[in-house]
Amino acid sequence: MSKIRLGILGGGADSLIGILHRVAANMFDHYEITGGAFDIDFEKSKNFGEKLGLDQDRIYKDIDAMIEAESNLPKDKRIQVVSVLTPNFLHFPMAKQLLENGFHVICEKPLTTTYEEAKILKAIREKTGSIFAVTYTYTGYPMVRQMKKMIAEGVIGKIHKVDIQYYQGWINSLIHDKEKRSNTWRLDPEKSGISCCIGDIGTHAFNMAEFLTGTRIDKVLADLNYLYEDNPMDIDGTVLVRYSDNAKGVIRASQIATGEENNFCVKIYGDKGGLKWEQENPNYLYHLTEDKPLQTLKPGHAYNSDFSLEGTKLPPGHPEGIFDSMGNIYLGIANAIKNHTKFEGAYPDLEEGVRGMMFIEKTVDSHKKGNVWVNLND
Ligand code: NAD
Repeated sequence: MSKIRLGILGGGADSLIGILHRVAANMFDHYEITGGAFDIDFEKSKNFGEKLGLDQDRIYKDIDAMIEAESNLPKDKRIQVVSVLTPNFLHFPMAKQLLENGFHVICEKPLTTTYEEAKILKAIREKTGSIFAVTYTYTGYPMVRQMKKMIAEGVIGKIHKVDIQYYQGWINSLIHDKEKRSNTWRLDPEKSGISCCIGDIGTHAFNMAEFLTGTRIDKVLADLNYLYEDNPMDIDGTVLVRYSDNAKGVIRASQIATGEENNFCVKIYGDKGGLKWEQENPNYLYHLTEDKPLQTLKPGHAYNSDFSLEGTKLPPGHPEGIFDSMGNIYLGIANAIKNHTKFEGAYPDLEEGVRGMMFIEKTVDSHKKGNVWVNLND
């Protein structure tokens, strides 16, 4: 079967996330990067596209040029799926245009800049039936997938407490200087959306909480930190959460946890045991019980679930990391495009992106109303 023709918007040479998607797309030999508009600067985009070995006429000035040219190609040559890797404010208009023109979409998180926009995408996708993934990267790790299976099988029993922490420190170095602050699109509400910390990383934690437990969060109570009165966006926050089955938990996110790199930690406790996982050491899953010493589970062993094993390419002891995690998500998307879906949760769907946008808006709402409980529904 021929490879899936993949287009890319954004993710240019200097971008943070482009390389992750390109490596992930190549990992299981399902995709061929066929064209795109990689950079806001067309010259840079052309140079980069050439470096990738693309035909000149598939390196486009912008999304309009790409959609027009691709739509005029025969179906067996046309780009089938497009990854949207631009800053947040472009996700909605680009994804909308792509859906309306018959492309499948892989979109970076957060899905949009408002919940309203997210709902519009959902309504369009209901009509087109396209595959639409939102790259909550961390759900692709084999030991995260193993954790999800163990929880679903009742290994830790009824869930009592979910504690998810996502701490970074990188904004500390620029938040105290007004000029530096205005130089990143992540701190510009026009480009990023109403929230910086909760929108950028709190949303990963929220997605992880619902992905792992298989239960929806019903209510949030947030206390956000803006640090300066003239800073329009949160850069730290603590969110109490309540699940639909009455379990309780907390999402703690920060971009001013000085010295922290990408400290994403998940701890879930039930009446029979607990599970702990850390993104910076993703190949270790800790299983806690009262009657046995701490157990450490690792990828690639037969004791793991098929869902976990599908995302492990090498024998045990060969460390895999974030490229592999994104690669597993691209694998899930490829299987969906080819109609071979094997595992539920193999890639995060548009629906999860929509929930993520609801979480961001309701969390900011809870904070602004004076730290009150807010329901996560319409
Ligand atoms: P970045 O600023 O490093 O790169 C953005 C890229 O988009 C640049 O190459 C820029 O030239 C290009 N671009 C901007 N406007 C464009 C346009 N109109 N057409 C084509 N290209 C355009 O940003 P980044 O850190 O790579 O983040 C991009 C997205 O990825 C954001 O939405 C961010 O939230 C998300 N992200 C996700 C993860 C994750 O773990 N899933 C991690 C980092 C970033």
